[in-house]
Amino acid sequence: MSKKLFWDDAYTKEFDATVTSVDGPQLILDQTAFHPRGGGLLGDTGSLDGTKIVDTIKGSDDSVVHVMQAGATLSVGSKVHGAIDWDRRYRIMRMHTSAHLLSAIFNKETGALITGNQIEPEKSRVDFSLENFDREKMLTHCQQANEAIKKNPSVKTYFMNREEALKIPGIVKLATAAPPDVKELRIVEIEGYDIQADGGVHVKTLGEIAKIEPLKFENKGKSNRRLYFTIP
Ligand SMILES: [Zn+2]
Repeated sequence: MSKKLFWDDAYTKEFDATVTSVDGPQLILDQTAFHPRGGGLLGDTGSLDGTKIVDTIKGSDDSVVHVMQAGATLSVGSKVHGAIDWDRRYRIMRMHTSAHLLSAIFNKETGALITGNQIEPEKSRVDFSLENFDREKMLTHCQQANEAIKKNPSVKTYFMNREEALKIPGIVKLATAAPPDVKELRIVEIEGYDIQADGGVHVKTLGEIAKIEPLKFENKGKSNRRLYFTIP
C-alpha cells in the first residue's frame, strides 16, 4: 500500500519516492502525492523524474496506480522525484470543494441529494435529485454558496471511527461516494456548513474558491437536475 501524502497535506506538489511495482505502464510508489481518479474526480497528471504520468487510478488493495506515458519504463527500487501538474490539481481541489458546498446548500434548502458529479479543471457539474426545476431558486442557492465563500470558513479533514461517523446526519450526501468498508472513515468538514465522508482533495479555506459561477441548469428527467459551474 502506498502512503497517501495527499491525505496529510493536499498541497504537496513535489515529493521523493521509491518505485515498488511496475506492470506495463502502471507503476506503484511507496508514497505519493498523486491523487487517483474516483468519486467524480479526475486522476492527477504530472511527472516522475523525466517520465510523464498521464493518469492516476485506484488499484487493488487501495493502492495508487500511476499510468506512465506510452513506452516509458522505470524499474522497481528506483528513487524518483514526483511533481504533480499543480495548476490543474489546484483547480480540481477548488472545484471539488465547491461541489461539497453546493451539495450542502442544496441539501439544506431543498432536501436534494447528490446523484452524481464530475469535477474537471475547466467546468464541473453536480446532479441533484430534486422535484422542482426552478432556475431562479437554483440561482439563489448558488448566491448562498458565494455568501458562504465570502465568510471564508475553514475546511478540515480528519479520520473518525466508522460507526461513530455514520451516526452523523447527512454524512453521506454524495450517492456516488459510499464510504468504503474500512474501520476509519476520512471526514471532510466545511465548518458551519457541511460534514461528509470523503477521500478526495480539498482546499483549506472556502475563500480559495473565490466564486462559484453557475453556467447552465439542465433538466435531466423526472427528478434529476444538473448544474454546470466554473470558478475564476
Ligand atoms: Zn470531497
